[in-house]
Amino acid sequence: MTDRVLMVTGGSRGIGAACVIGAAKAGYGRIALNYTRDAAAAEATAAAARALGAEVAIIQADVGVPEDITRLFAETDARFGPLTHLVNNAGITGRTGAFADADPAEIARVIDLNVTGALLVAQEAVKRMSTARGGGGGAIINISSMAATLGSAGEYVWYAASKGAIDSFTLGLARELAREGIRVNAVAPGLIATDIHDASGAVGRLERLAPSIPLARPGTADEVAQAVLFLLSEAASYTTGAVLKVSGGR
Ligand code: NAP
Repeated sequence: MTDRVLMVTGGSRGIGAACVIGAAKAGYGRIALNYTRDAAAAEATAAAARALGAEVAIIQADVGVPEDITRLFAETDARFGPLTHLVNNAGITGRTGAFADADPAEIARVIDLNVTGALLVAQEAVKRMSTARGGGGGAIINISSMAATLGSAGEYVWYAASKGAIDSFTLGLARELAREGIRVNAVAPGLIATDIHDASGAVGRLERLAPSIPLARPGTADEVAQAVLFLLSEAASYTTGAVLKVSGGR
């Protein structure tokens, strides 16, 4: 079990942090925890995972910047050797609001991180995992969103579009890599209690939308992490190209 090497992008807070800690509990022995700004949160999450027995490398990198992705993988290789499992999680929404009023630079930043960044992170992972390239196989989980199918009208349609891209990418890549030892799946969280909502400027969003959810509450980051860990694991050995909704029925 300890020969697995897991990377979680955006692993310092929210869903990513829950994946890091959940993976440590599940026996992943070597975890590369990426973050970009909040070093204290990264340290706290790493400490929790180390207390569970995992070796954790904290690697600062903006995965919206290609050069940072190259460095993130080089540092992971040097510390742990080639990656076997990836949670492609880092993502932002931008400020909530009408599409016509959105700042074009912010739209570009969301696409750079949520789409281009996620694709380039997956590309580096595939180069290391593919049995056609000398790797030992692996599993990739892309973090999508229910926004991809709901559209996020009036909130952040550009973010919804970025996650729609992730759903298409997941299906295509899963089929492309099916005979190279790599399973590729996505998890589509619904309304999950993390900092991302306040960061979008939509303070009170969780409370406002909770009654519209069939299960009548927001989900937790841990509940998303459980789905991620299932898809990462051999328990999901026949599952590839799936987008698993974790959305309370939304
Ligand atoms: P969050 O609480 O805001 O945490 C975001 C994490 O990503 C932090 O660790 C942050 O690190 C990191 N990050 C942000 N920008 C980054 C960058 N450029 N490079 C590397 N790391 C970066 O967000 P979350 O709610 O857990 O969301 C995680 C994923 O789930 C995202 O892809 C999001 O779109 C998706 N999702 C969330 C929800 C929800 O309701 N929460 C629903 C559907 C989908 P720093 O602290 O260092 O910035």
